[in-house]
Amino acid sequence: MADRRQGLKEQLELLWELQKIDLELKSIKEEKDRYPKEMKRLDEKQKIEKERIQKEREKIESLEKARRQKEGHLNLEQEKVKRAEGRMSEVKTNKEYQALLSEIDAIKEANNRMEEEVLQVMDEIDELKKDLSKREKDMGVTLDKIEGERKKLQEKMAHDEKAWNEQMERREVLSKQIESKLFKLYNTLKEKRQGVGVVSAKHETCQGCFVHVPPQMFIEVQKNNALIRCPNCNRILYWDRERNKK
Ligand SMILES: [Zn+2]
Repeated sequence: MADRRQGLKEQLELLWELQKIDLELKSIKEEKDRYPKEMKRLDEKQKIEKERIQKEREKIESLEKARRQKEGHLNLEQEKVKRAEGRMSEVKTNKEYQALLSEIDAIKEANNRMEEEVLQVMDEIDELKKDLSKREKDMGVTLDKIEGERKKLQEKMAHDEKAWNEQMERREVLSKQIESKLFKLYNTLKEKRQGVGVVSAKHETCQGCFVHVPPQMFIEVQKNNALIRCPNCNRILYWDRERNKK
């Protein structure tokens, strides 16, 4: 088999690539897991904005209703005054006349109060409408902002989904090139060690657990041609030429 003829050095390089892909996948997944919560937060914000305005609209509606009722009542009372005044020519005694007059005065007085109330309600409605139109404008701005955030989030989601699929494909191809025993060992270590099965050694230190690697072992690690594991965390050690240049 071609795989078997590949040296351990090449296998370690492949494993190192695989580890990089897996770390990338891990961070993409963490991002992806955040999205539903983020989306829900935006939905909530939008709902609260809309409900607040709705409540104000309802308040104005109920005041309009009260105003119409008062006006209706006022019209009826004004009709009463007219009818009473019509009866003035029919009264015969002074006593009747006085009684009718005070009846008309009482109704008129009540009507004046009612008119005052109608005016007050109208003022209140005007104030609320002024407030409402300002708040509707504010809400428009806020909703646009939320919509913008939502769009950005959707774009990010699509981007991450694409990156995820690409990395998964690369992983698939790479996995097939790694000897199954090594691949199994890597997966086991990765599972036990927070997603990291193969780790670089630098300055005689394992970069996974940051425990010192004995000098002789470190020299061997730098050759990258043997399976050497950290004496402390058991991860496979790798000499990352690129990283160690820096
Ligand atoms: Zn270690």
